[in-house]
Amino acid sequence: MSSFPYAERFAVNRALPAHGRPREEILAELAAIGAEEDSFWETGRCSGTMYCGDHEHYHFLASAFEQFAHVNALQRDMCPSMTKFEAEIIAMTLDVLGGGSVTDGPPCGLVTTGGSGSILHAVLAYRDWARAERGVTTPNLIKPETAHPAFDKACHLFGVELRRAPVDPVTTEVDVDWVADHLDASTIALVGSACNYGYGTIDPIGQLSDLALRHGVGLHVDGCLGGFILPFGQRLGYDVPAFDFRVPGVTSISADTHKYGYAFKGSSVVVFRRRELRNAQYFYLTDWTGGKYCSPGMDGSRSGGLLASTWAAMVSLGWEGYLTYARQIFETSQAMQQAVRSHPQLRILGKPTFLFSFTSDEFDIYHVNDFMRPRGWRFNGQQYPNALHMAVTRPQTRPGVAQAFAADLAAAVEYAQGQAGQPTSSGAIYGGVAGGMTMAADEFIKAVMADMMDQQQAIPPDA
Ligand SMILES: *Cc1c(COP(=O)(O)O)cnc(C)c1O
Repeated sequence: MSSFPYAERFAVNRALPAHGRPREEILAELAAIGAEEDSFWETGRCSGTMYCGDHEHYHFLASAFEQFAHVNALQRDMCPSMTKFEAEIIAMTLDVLGGGSVTDGPPCGLVTTGGSGSILHAVLAYRDWARAERGVTTPNLIKPETAHPAFDKACHLFGVELRRAPVDPVTTEVDVDWVADHLDASTIALVGSACNYGYGTIDPIGQLSDLALRHGVGLHVDGCLGGFILPFGQRLGYDVPAFDFRVPGVTSISADTHKYGYAFKGSSVVVFRRRELRNAQYFYLTDWTGGKYCSPGMDGSRSGGLLASTWAAMVSLGWEGYLTYARQIFETSQAMQQAVRSHPQLRILGKPTFLFSFTSDEFDIYHVNDFMRPRGWRFNGQQYPNALHMAVTRPQTRPGVAQAFAADLAAAVEYAQGQAGQPTSSGAIYGGVAGGMTMAADEFIKAVMADMMDQQQAIPPDA
């Protein structure tokens, strides 16, 4: 990847331009770049990332965003609409996630800026609640090894010890006995995914719930990915176990509106069974000379556009719209999984639904990736064991994509068999597939991050 993308075609701003440029020229530059980058995923060959992929829908969301883009959602006296949008986004999310079955007081939620934000707020709430209610001063959290790194990030930021529970290598579901053995008086919460990002599999939420209830600890279900599609798959008759508030020990759930909720990036919801839990992480500063300050979450100012457009996405689809898209996605995923299963050399991990992951016990699966990549396929790469995953989204439901997947996969398996024992040119990195790693993994990732951030600061190249 170039260190200065587009440097040959568009001027690089190494400083604030002295004079402004004409708006039309700026918009034309953005349109050219945007159209080119969209063509990457419009083929339907890119796993995850573009959940909706429908430009008409994006245009509609942009119109909704535009009306409130300039509004600060923090200043509610000026924009009571934000309370309406936020409250309704939370209510609709609770409807989808079994909030109706909560009988011991009304459940509640927070709208955040992304899945990581929802997880951070949940961990902060558990930490502060456990401190207040149970006097826990050295908190720990237990997550399945397969749960998202956002939990590790939250524990890192908030001084919570993270205990990573192993998963069964065949089912990829968390080892509940291990969790039971490692839970103690300082455990603030357990975590289960529905579903996890790597394999698309669902942890045994019912068993984790029993454990959580028995020990009086919280249970967070990470539905960042599955929260807005699994409930619809369930209604369509697919084999999806209960994972939401209908399971009595579940105390919070994260669900990303900016994934299968088909809203713009920058939006997610975390819902709580009890108000006290959500309220535990509120921040107040009542004696500040600038006035009494409070914010419901970690963000200060937020764009009203995000709340308005997320609300617009949800009410424009309704149960019917989400069910229609879920049906198409589940059917496409089944067709693709069938293609994988037709090759005895390949093995699907666990019991996935809309997102599946496959490996090979005969050859390095990255040979399959090496073959598919130049044909436009972008899978997410995994390690321990090496595997590829495909999160089926709406772009894959277009006619012909599943068939093309089956055909290219067959050719790729043949290619991979011929390459057995040879090195592969791709490897595992979240959100993409990195080139061959020659340095130690931590050093490599640090170098990649430094390089990316340096570019963003547009540090002039030497020559
Ligand atoms: C995407 C995802 C997250 C984190 O979400 P961001 O929106 O990237 O911050 C957490 N958990 C799972 C299972 C996810 O797929």
